Amino acid sequence: MNTSSHKGTEFSKFKEYYIRECNECGVCYENCYAYKITKYPIHKTLKNLFQNKLDKKNVKKIKKFLNSCIYCKSCQKSCINGLDLTERLTTIRFELFKLNRKYTWLPYKIPSIFARFINGKRIAHALMNLNNYLIPKINRQKYDEYRTPKTRDIVFFSGCGIQMLENQYFTLLDIFNKLNLNFGLIEGLFDKSVCCGAVSFGLGKFEHGLYLLKNLVDEVKRFNTKKVMVYCATCYYGLKKLAPQFIEDYDLEIIYAADYIAEILKKEEYKKHLNIPKAKSQLITIHDSCHLAHSGDVSSIRKLFSVLPNVTISEMKHHKENSFCDLYCIIRELNNPLNLIVKKDVLPIIDEAVESKANVLCSLCPNCHAVLTIFGDGFTSALGLTNKRIPVKNWVSILGEYLGIRMKDMLTYRLSHFITIPFKESGLWYLIQILKAFVRGYIGLKKPKKKKKMKN
Ligand code: SF4
Ligand code: SF4
Repeated sequence: MNTSSHKGTEFSKFKEYYIRECNECGVCYENCYAYKITKYPIHKTLKNLFQNKLDKKNVKKIKKFLNSCIYCKSCQKSCINGLDLTERLTTIRFELFKLNRKYTWLPYKIPSIFARFINGKRIAHALMNLNNYLIPKINRQKYDEYRTPKTRDIVFFSGCGIQMLENQYFTLLDIFNKLNLNFGLIEGLFDKSVCCGAVSFGLGKFEHGLYLLKNLVDEVKRFNTKKVMVYCATCYYGLKKLAPQFIEDYDLEIIYAADYIAEILKKEEYKKHLNIPKAKSQLITIHDSCHLAHSGDVSSIRKLFSVLPNVTISEMKHHKENSFCDLYCIIRELNNPLNLIVKKDVLPIIDEAVESKANVLCSLCPNCHAVLTIFGDGFTSALGLTNKRIPVKNWVSILGEYLGIRMKDMLTYRLSHFITIPFKESGLWYLIQILKAFVRGYIGLKKPKKKKKMKN
């Protein structure tokens, strides 16, 4: 896409280009699910929306169209003029927000009354409290030196999801440690209000999303680098695709952690770390997270597995850019939420993983890992009452094993152990932390408690 070179956000340049080049042919929406459901030709009103000339009576229709989008990406890359609207769906919602500040995005199957409970600030407070309850500061002290702002090769922005799966959080940081990376560490929604903002933007909470994102950009600057490594697919999408739409002259380089590590492990001096004698062969199939795939990264994980000894990839039918979105498979069932508990085939991803004959299904981000583990093979198997057809492992755990870092998958364990000794490993303990975080953060709008300093 040719856009003029003057300053501005990517989105403001895109709008200018769209107004000039779109001929309203409708090709981009020929196979669009939202169009089938709403019969609303959104391509005929976007120019007016972008020029602030939209007839107010169309606001409701556009909103319905956008809420019916199942993010199938059929409109992506279909325009002969190179106008990729899929990438801009979030920012198109931003235009609606400017017209109606009460605008909130919710999938069309969720009753609109729930929109009242979507409050960016409250959600962020709840997450900050939850991350502090699940991994308290004292358990993170081991990595304090990486949090100190000073010049680094790269900054690792953890995101908030990984902190809810503590074994992945500790495994990944131990991997960085073992490989002697010169990295700075910023944790999402832990002790500071920093986040990629993607979820807030997605839900239509633009002001709060931008506040969190700008805080993150400021934090990164303290490490004197423009390179930011992320692990969560949604953070990758937020920082790579959304941030340039909202922030002028945004110039951070976003790198997926698997890519950065694969490049390091290719180097001769690092190969010794992988010299596990008799590494047993693994046949792995990969579930590509759509936020990663549609932000242009399907190669990192494959590159990483190509440097691990005795790993073979068996691709499932829908992979790379064609992968299914697990979250939308869940949304599809919301007409009858009981299906999520009783149905075994909520996610076709598991069927395809089994068909691939792989021994392991590899997840790429904390959100997909949680959805695949909880709903993938039927809820009864998540609770340990029936057998799983294929184990779900995150790539961080797979790599950790090659580097001698092995930790129990606490999500799988807690789902099948409601009460345990020690209590902190149980499912009940985890649910209590969620409840506490909800009451203190969401309802009480309080930040996490600061531990009092010990008196000498
Ligand atoms: S295919 Fe391209 S030119 Fe046609 S309506 Fe869509 S964005 Fe406009
Ligand atoms: S991603 Fe959304 S807008 Fe694009 S074709 Fe699919 S349903 Fe339609």
